[in-house]
Amino acid sequence: MPELFIGGQWTAAADGQVREIRCPADGTLVATVDEGGPKDAAAAVSAARTAFDDGSWPRTPAAERGRLVLRVAELLERDRDVLAKAESLDTGKRLVESGYDMDDIANCFRHFGNLGAAGGTDRVVDAGAAEIASTVCHEPVGVCALITPWNYPLLQTAWKVAPCLVAGNTFVLKPSELTPHTAVHLMRLLAEAGLPDGAANLVLGTGPAVGALLTEDPRVDMVSFTGGLLTGRRIMAAAAPTVKKIALELGGKNPNIVFADADFDTAVDYALMAVFLHSGQVCSAGARLLVQEELHDAFVDELVSRAQRIRLGGPFDEHARTGPLISAAHRAKVEAYVAAGLEEGAVLLCGGSPPDDPSLSNGFYYLPTVLDECTPDMSVVRDESFGPVLTVERFRDEDEAVSLANDTVYGLAGAVWTQDSERAHRVAARLRAGTVWINDFHPYVPQAEWGGMKQSGVGRELGPAGLAEYQEAKHVWRNTAPRPQRWFE
Ligand code: NAD
Repeated sequence: MPELFIGGQWTAAADGQVREIRCPADGTLVATVDEGGPKDAAAAVSAARTAFDDGSWPRTPAAERGRLVLRVAELLERDRDVLAKAESLDTGKRLVESGYDMDDIANCFRHFGNLGAAGGTDRVVDAGAAEIASTVCHEPVGVCALITPWNYPLLQTAWKVAPCLVAGNTFVLKPSELTPHTAVHLMRLLAEAGLPDGAANLVLGTGPAVGALLTEDPRVDMVSFTGGLLTGRRIMAAAAPTVKKIALELGGKNPNIVFADADFDTAVDYALMAVFLHSGQVCSAGARLLVQEELHDAFVDELVSRAQRIRLGGPFDEHARTGPLISAAHRAKVEAYVAAGLEEGAVLLCGGSPPDDPSLSNGFYYLPTVLDECTPDMSVVRDESFGPVLTVERFRDEDEAVSLANDTVYGLAGAVWTQDSERAHRVAARLRAGTVWINDFHPYVPQAEWGGMKQSGVGRELGPAGLAEYQEAKHVWRNTAPRPQRWFE
């Protein structure tokens, strides 16, 4: 069956292009999929435009839209294992982690479905005069282009698709060209749940051939993008001539601050998980360890000895604790990044190369890497590696910790480890980041907003704000007793 989904029809790419998807864990062929291009992007925008302007979905009551999205949550649960396997084959991620992702995805649909099912969000405003009936209601933005990355393919898609639909929009989804399969499956589930034709459209393909077209097309009202900072800047510029609404979830260079009074074992354990989970291919990865001077040596010794024992392996290796990088090109980028750090004076404590285990030689693995003696001016401290690379800096006191933590163009997430709760809250308040964890790392819930300050993004996903991104507020003012004003007499 062809893999593009346009106007309710499954279709092959107009130019007949296809792409081989290979598992990053061992290079095996997963499948060959249709690869869309500009004609497909234009056709999908037409379908979404017609479905928005003339179709039933935007005019379906919010509660009914919510119920359909809740039905999708049930279908996602039914197909959990099939979806998890597809995600693992595309990304190389451990199957158990993909399973957790699928649970989070169903929860995300349930969260937004419940917000919709609770009914509309109209608000009566007191306009200060008895004859005025004033209401603010929330309407869909229109046709949305949803552009997503490869690290959490269906999760990032869910954070957009669920609120986008609950709000009554129609959309064209363009997932990463490297990880298309779960997006294809989601389209099947949306159709099965009864979404009208044209409300959801899927075009597989590259950023330049499909994504860029979607961000420029004047018939698109909103672009919601998750991906890298440079792409985000390009999208912002491409959306400017037609003043599209934009929501951007970009990268991070997230500080993990450990004070000397932190619980040692727990803080070491979480420092490893913070940065090496999914081989560092996590936007909120705790890639900058800031450790208090007097704790530094003991903490880093323990961390390195445990990092050296992390077992790498493919999706179905039950003993593996993390997997490969997404591609050869991405691994080359991580290698160049580490080389630049060493050139700048960072000290390599472990890793710094692909593993020499021959059983992993067909995959794009890279060893968990720790670079010590790092300083804020180094490129390894400033730039996102999106790989399993931890930089270590020392700090003397609270002020220096906050200053180092905030010395970045990014502002996605950060953590602070201390048993002094007043200090924890003081530091949390001073961190310029969209999420701060105290004595924890990585958790999130769909009820709470997610997103970045500074160059980590624009807008928020999840939480009530994650729904509001896909809505326009409209104020309707009704004068119940209109009389001439005679202003010009
Ligand atoms: P990327 O920016 O290379 O690609 C993301 C998506 O944009 C892909 O679908 C790609 O095809 C598309 N794209 C590329 N060029 C485009 C263009 N000119 N116009 C329109 N679309 C274009 O990012 P990636 O390598 O897939 O993902 C990794 C990045 O994503 C990291 O920087 C990571 O921090 C970020 N990320 C952020 C979050 C968050 O919540 N803030 C979550 C996950 C990933």
